[in-house]
Amino acid sequence: MYEPVQTCTRCGAGLTLDDLRAPNCKYCGTVFPHKAQAAQHAELAGQVMNQMMAQQAQIQDQWRAAFGAGPMPPTGPMGPAMGPMGPMGPGMPPPPGAPGSPYASPQAIAAAHMMQVGQVQQQVARSVSRTTTIVMIVVGLSIVLTIGSVLASVLMAR
Ligand SMILES: [Zn+2]
Repeated sequence: MYEPVQTCTRCGAGLTLDDLRAPNCKYCGTVFPHKAQAAQHAELAGQVMNQMMAQQAQIQDQWRAAFGAGPMPPTGPMGPAMGPMGPMGPGMPPPPGAPGSPYASPQAIAAAHMMQVGQVQQQVARSVSRTTTIVMIVVGLSIVLTIGSVLASVLMAR
């Protein structure tokens, strides 16, 4: 009923369509190329996804580090902010940029900051102007309403 449509690349056995649905040759057990490709593809897709997730997490980490660090000179050592006890002093939270954080050096924080600050500034400027517009509209409306109601009550009182 089933005619061989392909021969196994390893053992040369005739494989029917039914046989090809299996991941391996039923005679020698070798993985079929099309299955291997599919597995490779799935693996690749998974890798790309993981990379994207990792990048996302990294960017979030960068921002957390950058915001946590606050204003900081782009060069120079940590200076006296560390205190005599150092970063691991008792009862002291480790300062941002302490050894162990992915952005240990101020230079790295500054570099990461500079890389994204332009984009974010644009975004912030856009959203700020939008927010400002909305606020102005709301404030204007409430002023108009307040004046209107005051005028109305004044006129009614007469
Ligand atoms: Zn085979």
